[in-house]
Order: sequence, then structure tokens, then C-alpha cells
Amino acid sequence: MPPQLRIPGPTPCPDDVLKAMGRQMIDHRGKEFGEVMYRVTTSLKEMFQTKGDVFVLTTSGTGAMEASIVNTLSPGDKVLAVSIGSFGDRYADIAKAYGADVQCLNFEWGHQADPDAVRRVLKDVPAIKAVLFTHNETSTGVTNDLQSLAKVAREYDKLVLVDAISSLGSINLETDAWGCDVVCTGSQKGWMVPPGLAMVSVSQKAWQAYEKAKMPRYYFDFGKARKYLEKKQTPWTPAVSQFFALQVGLDDLAKEGMPNVMARHKRISKHARDSAKAIGLKLFPASETYASATVTAINGPDGVNVVKLLQVLRDEYKVVLAGGQGKLEGKIFRIGHLGLVTEKDMDEVAAALRSALPSVGLKAL
Ligand SMILES: *Cc1c(COP(=O)(O)O)cnc(C)c1O
Repeated sequence: MPPQLRIPGPTPCPDDVLKAMGRQMIDHRGKEFGEVMYRVTTSLKEMFQTKGDVFVLTTSGTGAMEASIVNTLSPGDKVLAVSIGSFGDRYADIAKAYGADVQCLNFEWGHQADPDAVRRVLKDVPAIKAVLFTHNETSTGVTNDLQSLAKVAREYDKLVLVDAISSLGSINLETDAWGCDVVCTGSQKGWMVPPGLAMVSVSQKAWQAYEKAKMPRYYFDFGKARKYLEKKQTPWTPAVSQFFALQVGLDDLAKEGMPNVMARHKRISKHARDSAKAIGLKLFPASETYASATVTAINGPDGVNVVKLLQVLRDEYKVVLAGGQGKLEGKIFRIGHLGLVTEKDMDEVAAALRSALPSVGLKAL
């Protein structure tokens, strides 16, 4: 039996996806690959809920975040980075690295971003061109109210750039209806595909920004991606095996039906939280109303060495959970429940936790 891999990516892959990865190579400039690309792109547009462009980049999710910045902005542009955790901070760092003038609006970890606070900044600082949001903050297990946040940014006519890496395909995100200009996701999260591909949508407004954007870019140039997509190709050699896998993963999701997929994530996340609470554990998010449907963050109980707990779970119970990131290292642990996941998987995680906790210093709950 393989271990229970319950981290928020890479996630377990279905057998049909793994089998697709083993296929012989084909010409990435040939007709057969073109058909794969066409099908994958068409299916992704549905899942992104967009009529805009969608590109599949050979990179991890962070590459898509970088692409969203360098294709829409120029050095010196004012950018508002709204952060509720370590991935929000990363988005700000990428923009800074390319010379954007980044203003940070940080919220306490474990909380949602407040749309009114965003509105106050946008009102005060008219020069801001773009706002960076994280839809689902994987480091804290909190999902932002992206619809409300994007609405505020649109009121002030800002570009809306979104890290939806651990939400899209698992949690509802209406790219066009909510007014999101660039939305990023990655294959190894809810898509049930190995790491290596990032998918990104580009709106009309983002293309207008692209025409003026002067940040240096080459590999991640959306213009080149658009030109090659017309020929059903990618500008550079793509991760062909991952494309095969993505096609199968998308077919699997479509077969289940996206409303069912999203309902399953909601249901299973509630089951994960209820199981944790039944053991006596405390959730990290300040309110369960915005606890994530794809990752549950749990406080390390008093007296328990979280690093040791994760080690015991891995070595003795074959259950792999994630630790805390950044300032939460050693303080929390996280259960990934996105992509290929059932209630039974969460029951196994809960049983392992219940059994392992006393051996790593848990007194009584
Ligand atoms: C996983 C993740 C990333 C980083 O993606 P990589 O594929 O590791 O580059 C960024 N943001 C969020 C919210 C994530 O969950």
C-alpha cells in the first residue's frame, strides 16, 4: 500500500492519469499533440469559467504567478499585494523582484482579507494599477471571499491578479463573472496530475495591460503563448507526459461534473474538521466560516512536538501530512484534501492522529 499522501500538493493521482504519463513521446509540433492541446485548453476554459484565453505553461504554480506579473506590469508600477499568509507574501515578493512598487496589505494569519480595508487603500492611493489576491491561502487553510475582493478592485478599475493554485478545480471561482484578469493554478493540486504544469487565464483587460507592460520576460511571454496556441502548439517544448496526464485528469473531473467535484470538496473538508474537533484538536483559522475546502490547518496541541508528530505519522502510520510554513513552522500541521480524496481517506488520517498523538506528548484532551 502506498502511503496516505495528504499534503496540499502534490496530490495522489488516479491510475488512469499515471498510466497516461507512461505513454510513448510524440512530436510536440505534430497533429496529435495539437489535438491534446486543443482538448485540454477547451476543457480548462470551462473549469476557469472564462471565455478569455487559457494557457498551459510548463512550470510549477509559482511560474504562473511570475507570468501574471511580468506580462501585465512595468517596473515602478504601483501594486497592492493583499496577503493573508505565506503564499500572499510570495506574490508580493515576485512583484518586488521585477521592480514593481509594492504596497502590502497584510492580514493576521488565520483570517480572511477584508474587502473594506482593500477599498480604503484603493481610495487613498489612486496610482495603484493592479491588486494581487490569493484565493485559497494554503499556508493557513483560509479561503478568501474572492468575489467580494475582486468586486472592490473592479470598482476602482484595477487589474485583478489571482493565485488560485490550490482552489481552482476544487472550489468555485468564476473568472469572468467576478472580473479576474489573470488567474493561476498548478497541475499538482486539485487537478490530480503530477507537478510540472501551470494553467493561467488572461482577460481582455489583461491583454490591454500586456500591450504596455515593460517588465523583462521571455519564457513566460503570453504573446508568444497566444501566437503558438493558434497553431495548437506551445512556444517551447512542453512537458508532453504531463499534458497526456492533464487530459485524462480533466476528463475524470468532467465525468464527475464540476458541481459534484466542488460539493465533494466542501463535504470532505467539513468531515476533516469535524474529525479533528472530535479528537479535541483546534483549527487554525479564526472562523470556520472561511476554513478552506482543500486544506485543513490545525493547531499543534499543547505539549506536542509537531515535527515529531509528522514524523511518527509518516514512519509508523504511513500517513503524510504537511507542517506549517514560515512563521507557522512547528506550530500547526495541515491536511490536504484536494483532488483524489474521499471521506474514507479522512477517516484514516483521523485514526492515525488519534493513535499517534499520545505517543508524542499529548496529555489528555
Ligand atoms: C502550491 C501553491 C503555490 C506554489 O506552487 P508551486 O507549484 O509550488 O510553485 C502558490 N500558491 C498557492 C496558494 C499554493 O497552494
